[in-house]
Amino acid sequence: SAEPVDPFKQGWLRGVYNEKPLEQVHTRFPPEPNGYLHIGHAKAITVNFGFARSYGGVCNLRFDDTNPSKEEERYFTSIKEMVHWLGFEPHKITYSSDEFDKLYELAEELTRRGKAYICYCSPAEVKKGRGQLGGGEYGPRTACAHWTRSVEENLEELRGMRDGKYKPGEVVLRMKQYLATKPEEYEINDEDAPATKKEKEKLKALSDNPALWDAAAYRVTKSSHHHRTGDKWKIYPTYEFTHCIVDALEDITHSLCTVEFETLRPAYNWLLEALDMKDEGSDKKGPMQREYGRLNVEGTILSKRRIAMLVEGTIIGDAPVSNETADGVAGDLEELTLAEEGDDEPEAASEVTKAVTSGTGRKIPPAVGGWDDPRLFTLVALRRRGVPPGALKKFVLDLGVTKANANTMTHSLDSSIRTYLERTVPRLMLVLDPIKVTFQNLPNDYLEEREVPFDPKDKEKGTHKVPFTKTIYIDQDDFREEDDSDFFRLSSGQSVGLLNAEFPIRCVSFSKDPSTGKVNEIIAEYGKEIPAGRARIHWVGESGAYKSPVKAEARIFNSLFKTQKPNELDWKNGGYHDDLNRDSLVTYPNAMIECGFNHIQENAPWPKEEGEANGSKEKSSVRFQGLRTAFFCLDADSTDDRVILNRIVSLKEDTGK
Ligand code: ATP
Ligand code: MG
Ligand code: MG
Repeated sequence: SAEPVDPFKQGWLRGVYNEKPLEQVHTRFPPEPNGYLHIGHAKAITVNFGFARSYGGVCNLRFDDTNPSKEEERYFTSIKEMVHWLGFEPHKITYSSDEFDKLYELAEELTRRGKAYICYCSPAEVKKGRGQLGGGEYGPRTACAHWTRSVEENLEELRGMRDGKYKPGEVVLRMKQYLATKPEEYEINDEDAPATKKEKEKLKALSDNPALWDAAAYRVTKSSHHHRTGDKWKIYPTYEFTHCIVDALEDITHSLCTVEFETLRPAYNWLLEALDMKDEGSDKKGPMQREYGRLNVEGTILSKRRIAMLVEGTIIGDAPVSNETADGVAGDLEELTLAEEGDDEPEAASEVTKAVTSGTGRKIPPAVGGWDDPRLFTLVALRRRGVPPGALKKFVLDLGVTKANANTMTHSLDSSIRTYLERTVPRLMLVLDPIKVTFQNLPNDYLEEREVPFDPKDKEKGTHKVPFTKTIYIDQDDFREEDDSDFFRLSSGQSVGLLNAEFPIRCVSFSKDPSTGKVNEIIAEYGKEIPAGRARIHWVGESGAYKSPVKAEARIFNSLFKTQKPNELDWKNGGYHDDLNRDSLVTYPNAMIECGFNHIQENAPWPKEEGEANGSKEKSSVRFQGLRTAFFCLDADSTDDRVILNRIVSLKEDTGK
């Protein structure tokens, strides 16, 4: 057969490599350790690690920890675990904060070169100087009075800033980029030589880019205690100052990031060139930034703040929990969304953060059990739900890695997972809601040992033995009290076939639990004289010797929200609460699994793949298809004597099971 196609040597990714072919590709995945990773990050991990691996290179896991106070140990740990779970091994684990000394030295160097200055303008004055009139309108730009100060004064003030002379908001170190460029400088005249014209066009493009209007490099932060460097620093570098320099210091060759950063690319190059870490107009020396589209998943929420609200059960404001969208909420939401992207926290965002973290918001019952609740789309939740890491990687790559954002829906992900599991996991019989069936024509000790394949289409998975006995259990769903012409399973006086058993069964009579009104026992007959019936149902036999059935609690997860667009809900006022799907978790406390489950547990992971096969055994890697039911895995809460199952996905779309 033909060589398998390497997705990293196709299309956009191939192009990125061709622009700068090197002996060794060195990439990095640079999460900010301020929350749990989500499905979007699975793309970032797959692209950065996968690209490097395909070209024989390496990838660092870099904690971009330049924001003090937001970082917590559990995020570092979880991020490391998720990279490993996805089957990747970081070449090195690094921390931007490890470079704080060098970064500061380089800030002084930039100042010494006359390419940075201390600015005392208020945020409003900075905006005005940048010509930002609001609403996306721009007026003329003017450099402030601080722009012309001497190198010596700037250096002294930078040191003062470092030594605690200023309070937050009083001062920033700004890069001297193109804010002060005057239109006359790039106005093209008829007599200009072609080379001059080209230069001027380039200058115009740079000076038109808001990312180059003297962006901040260092600022004094409100809270200054840092997870790793403690109280050493009162000033911290911005993303714009840090990212490109740390890329260069780590010898990154290809700095792959999402498309929002495309307009920042000239700023990335500007700083590296200013420090001689890159040559002007060339990607040969130093790191090269290139951008790929984000992965957006509709039908759920990925924002950290919003998930925190679900986990904590916090809403803010006094607004009643209602469906009515208050006026002006759209604006608030926008602010909230934008705030997620930024380094500093605009007020709207910090209001929510404060409410969530300090408990000042109004409390309602939490909608989910934690950040790893299988109804969420964080990576810890997807892992717990039983989604195989390989299915996530395949999903990301099947959507394609290009510059366009990949927009998709939760049900497309489910369908992709379903296809992935179809031939990779073994099949077992599992009864969610059992009814006892006793065969009046069989002796008490009747035992038929059935040899059953784990996958009828895949001999490699082998077989196992299940007992067919005088008493078996079938699913409530497969029985009706009254016969009906379009019900093909078991009903009063009718017969039905059994999967993996020799003969069909016929219902003779049934009884009900008087307290619940539910059918709790069926008396039946088994044998070759019984007509085959029109369907075959699954069942579980009862035998101590075979350790059958295995009792379990099965959890079925459905969408958390009724709407397909939960991002459009009134989050700020807690309006999401009214849209919660009350049936998002359905529990079957008395489920039963056939004894093949014991074999599955011992031989996990299913499927065998990197990330799970190498590490400590994840419970969620115990996966199987419950025949006619759904795909399941073992939940993290399971113990040696209590089996809890999670539904990974249904067998078909919208079975409602
Ligand atoms: P979010 O704001 O969505 O919680 P983030 O941007 O704050 O995420 P980071 O920790 O900064 O998260 O992200 C680490 C890397 O993952 C960055 O390179 C970022 O561009 C990338 N990334 C984040 N979200 C997505 C996404 N939806 N699709 C692809 N890559 C993403
Ligand atoms: Mg973001
Ligand atoms: Mg970020």
